[in-house]
Amino acid sequence: MTKTALIGKSLSDLRQLVSELGMPAFTARQLADWIYVKRVTSIEEMTNLSKKNRSLLAEHCELGRSQPVAVQESTDGTKKYLFPTHSGHFVETVFIPEGDRATLCVSSQVGCRMNCLFCMTGKQGFSGQLSAAEILNQILSLPESDSLTNVVFMGMGEPLDNLSNLLLAIEIMTSDYGLAWSPKRITVSTVGLIPAMKTFLEQTDCHLAVSLHAAFAEQRSELMPVERPFPMLKLLEELKKFDFSHQRRLSFEYIMFDGKNDTPRHAAELVKQLRGLPCRVNLIRFHAIPDVPLRSSNEVRMTAFRDQLSANGIICTIRRSRGEDIAAACGMLSTREQQRANS
Ligand code: SF4
Repeated sequence: MTKTALIGKSLSDLRQLVSELGMPAFTARQLADWIYVKRVTSIEEMTNLSKKNRSLLAEHCELGRSQPVAVQESTDGTKKYLFPTHSGHFVETVFIPEGDRATLCVSSQVGCRMNCLFCMTGKQGFSGQLSAAEILNQILSLPESDSLTNVVFMGMGEPLDNLSNLLLAIEIMTSDYGLAWSPKRITVSTVGLIPAMKTFLEQTDCHLAVSLHAAFAEQRSELMPVERPFPMLKLLEELKKFDFSHQRRLSFEYIMFDGKNDTPRHAAELVKQLRGLPCRVNLIRFHAIPDVPLRSSNEVRMTAFRDQLSANGIICTIRRSRGEDIAAACGMLSTREQQRANS
């Protein structure tokens, strides 16, 4: 019998579980406290549950925690962890310490079906969704878990292509019974799956980062097949209907490709497209991947691009590269590990 994971269950899921097992209703709160606040690693440690109830629980459930199987550490302190999944695959989770901040970049799927031209994870294809338990495990089983200040859903996969598990994980992260984080500590990145994006914006208060990577639609469709079903013009039009003028942050990610999307003409078009949206733009250096004839723009071009956006009133930063020496391009480590596991 496969046991059900306790992490990844909301308070109402836990209420249902204890009722099915014939335990008192208040046990659900106690369970949430052990799982998410005290963060025990075994059911045996839940000492305010009777011995009988602990055995009953252990018969049907497991905690659902699993430790990373590998870690690579960069000279700049960035660490890339590899977590196993229930389906026998691996996903990457990147810990990025920076001054008094510590950000965790988590994965939401095994592989990805968006197939962006410049992405190693896209090349893996899609092998399945991560459950809410597998998403949360990356946070709870991280050795640096207690020091985290922010979580970004920018690892492997398209988070909004796994909407129900993403929303469940966010509910647990932001609820009093769970990790009790402010939603302002969480950023979800998307290529712009419009219907799921609208649901996410309506149902959470987390920040949104949209991967744009081009200012012209034709060029974006060469880089990102998602442009065809969900065109950037429609995407920007939808975003303009939401309020980003207060606490909630909207940012656009723009990987800079040498000679492709980094000229003054591209910057001018981007300014035009983003007019009327309170947002910021993050310019990102490209980490080359095998068999893809794209190169990163150089510093001079990136700086000129940033300055052109800034001069037009858009907050624009060049993202500092982290962990370059540990093959930081998302999907590299897991691809290697999967090849090893399959050989
Ligand atoms: S960039 Fe993101 S959405 Fe695109 S293929 Fe890679 S993981 Fe998927």
